[in-house]
Amino acid sequence: MDTYLSLVNSGLTKEIARKLGLPRPAILRRHRPGDPLVPGPVLILGEGPAAGAAADILLGWGLDVRRHAADAERIGAIVLALDALRTPADLSAPALATAEAVRRLTPGGRIAAYLHGAGDDAGDPARAAARSGAEGFLRSLGRELRGGATANGIVLGGETLTAYAPSAVAALRFLLSGRSAYVDGQFVRVDTTAGTLPRNWEHPLEGKVAVVTGAARGIGAAIARTLHRDGATVVAVDVPAAGEALAAVANEVGGTALQLDVTRPDAGQAVLAHARDRHGRLDIMVHNAGITRDKLLANMDESRWNSVLAVNLESQLRMNGAFLDAGLEGLRIVSLASTSGIAGNRGQTNYAASKAGVIGMVGASAAAFAARGGGINAVAPGFIETDMTAAVPLATRSVARLLMPSLMQGGLPVDVAEAVGFLAWDAAAGINGQTLRVCGQSLVGA
Ligand code: NAD
Repeated sequence: MDTYLSLVNSGLTKEIARKLGLPRPAILRRHRPGDPLVPGPVLILGEGPAAGAAADILLGWGLDVRRHAADAERIGAIVLALDALRTPADLSAPALATAEAVRRLTPGGRIAAYLHGAGDDAGDPARAAARSGAEGFLRSLGRELRGGATANGIVLGGETLTAYAPSAVAALRFLLSGRSAYVDGQFVRVDTTAGTLPRNWEHPLEGKVAVVTGAARGIGAAIARTLHRDGATVVAVDVPAAGEALAAVANEVGGTALQLDVTRPDAGQAVLAHARDRHGRLDIMVHNAGITRDKLLANMDESRWNSVLAVNLESQLRMNGAFLDAGLEGLRIVSLASTSGIAGNRGQTNYAASKAGVIGMVGASAAAFAARGGGINAVAPGFIETDMTAAVPLATRSVARLLMPSLMQGGLPVDVAEAVGFLAWDAAAGINGQTLRVCGQSLVGA
């Protein structure tokens, strides 16, 4: 763990940090199998139809559900039903009720809100204003929470979709849990009622075969471990030069290793043949392999530009084409993007082009994969502590961590892996073509 994070959270140094007024990032609540879903009672606020549905769903999970802030001294999570907003004035009551409750939110607490998308409201500016207003409210609330608590939204796409849609249920489960530790100020959009809930929420990937590229280390290795923990059989892919580390990861997760450069023209066919020959099927494809070759554009050369685009983007396009050509049914794809592809980053014109390209590719591929019962989404990590970001100079790294306004720390590979795992669930089939940021509500990243 980051030394600063452990110092400001233990003993004497914690006291000194408090007296000096130093930023004190919290130790985040991360998923551990067997832990309770939330660290206390869940308070439901707001008048939308999602309030009743959420109560039903949460009681079904055996949680302690309350409808009045006064009923609970400590609150583990707040669920806000903002799905009936008609005018900006409708925001006032739930915002003020949240104000009263938020002081009692426990460390590691969660706020999850249901809302409809403003874009779904052409022709009703007051309703669109209320809906967009709700998003602004939540993003700012996320930045005010302390103790590693987060605030996120579930956008019910279209007017008829309810909180009972399987992917809305799955999103609620993910956002309340320790799996979403580094997801903050984000909106998960559910567009259809597609998806089936798992028999066992601890093993939502039971029986699935998943391929993870770039799995020899870093985020890819964490994804392999997380998918395995959740029940999948994993094929770990990486370049031959990383063969030893790759074999170690594959052994650790009881899967198989495939040495393959993803830029090879037949990479898609090779992945599919391996998964089918060794495990009988392919259900989940995680495009994680990626490289950086940072330079200011003025100093950029052809090899830096082309290699980054080839590994991070073109390989994914080509492999996805091969999967579509092969007529694979029900394939769920998750691609690694980056917040650099959203906000831009100095020295990363090539990398940001590749990662923004992934976001565009995912949106435009959604319909084709959905037509075959599958789906494709992206995860955009912010600053994650790996070998890739260890290459960033120490001073920049330290400043970057502390400037992160909400959680004041970089994320861990497992935080990205949990989001990838969630999007790979069958229950997430109603979420398609989306990009989910895992950035602790910061756009600093690699
Ligand atoms: P990493 O450098 O630690 O690991 C990347 C892995 O990909 C390595 O094992 C490497 O051998 C493999 N790889 C590279 N080229 C390959 C190829 N042609 N074929 C097969 N494998 C190949 O990186 P990481 O930090 O774990 O990042 C993983 C993914 O997450 C990347 O796509 C990266 O762009 C993205 N990401 C990382 C961060 C971060 O902060 N670390 C932030 C945003 C996005």
